[in-house]
Amino acid sequence: LLQVRDLVKTFPGRRVGGRRSEPVHAVRGVSFTVPRGNTVAIVGESGSGKSTTGRALLRLHEPTSGSVTFDGQDLLGLDDAAMRQMRARMQIVFQDTYASLDPRWLIGKTLAEPLRLHTEMTAAQIEERIAEVLTLVGLEPAHADRFPHEFSGGQRQRIGIARALLLDPDLVVCDEPVSALDVSVQAQVLDLMKDLQDRLGLTYVFISHDLSVVEMMADHVVVMSHGQVVEQGSTEQIFTAARHPYTRALLAAVP
Ligand code: ATP
Ligand code: MG
Repeated sequence: LLQVRDLVKTFPGRRVGGRRSEPVHAVRGVSFTVPRGNTVAIVGESGSGKSTTGRALLRLHEPTSGSVTFDGQDLLGLDDAAMRQMRARMQIVFQDTYASLDPRWLIGKTLAEPLRLHTEMTAAQIEERIAEVLTLVGLEPAHADRFPHEFSGGQRQRIGIARALLLDPDLVVCDEPVSALDVSVQAQVLDLMKDLQDRLGLTYVFISHDLSVVEMMADHVVVMSHGQVVEQGSTEQIFTAARHPYTRALLAAVP
């Protein structure tokens, strides 16, 4: 479904006072493939470029160079209008849903927005679709009439997932989707994500620094360090026969 080739993302230096800071080479030539219906995890220590990779492949950060092919189309060659259409099929779930949900907006308004922008649905159809996705993630249609602060962390993450599902995407990039949650709530949200993957045929790029979560979720693991891929392979291969010392060190750190 997705092919990433030699992806590079460099953030330009900033002017601070009279001086210009050094550019940040966040992603330095990353390649991997994500088959339809699979979960490919990106792991690596903090600052290794996982989130930047996830965002660059949706063009939330414009990649500096490389190629991203989604369902046979070269994404980096698309104009804004074509990219907007494509983006409906590629969604992202963030770690901190509290920060990404507008505190002043009812959940129903937050969830209506993508449908108004991307579809021709009537108000009644929008309301129906919102009720549908809230039910899909284990919430209730009436929850549309609440504000973000009226939910628990786990429920808010379900709302983040509901938002990602509104437009019936093929690919969901999950950037540390459960890292902010208690362990027991993590398990519930991960079960939900697996269940949704089976029911809706979703493909996941699953970014996490938590290897026990990755072992449970992923089919394939991409190990990043300093903006590069140091090793990748099937989950079994990575967890039983990692070749790279960096991967072994990551694995050794798991309790
Ligand atoms: P974490 O596990 O902490 O989330 P990460 O692997 O997701 O880390 P990134 O967020 O991709 O790492 O960051 C990679 C590098 O790029 C870091 O050095 C970071 O400071 C830098 N970086 C990320 N976003 C920006 C930005 N918008 N502008 C400048 N530098 C950035
Ligand atoms: Mg990150």
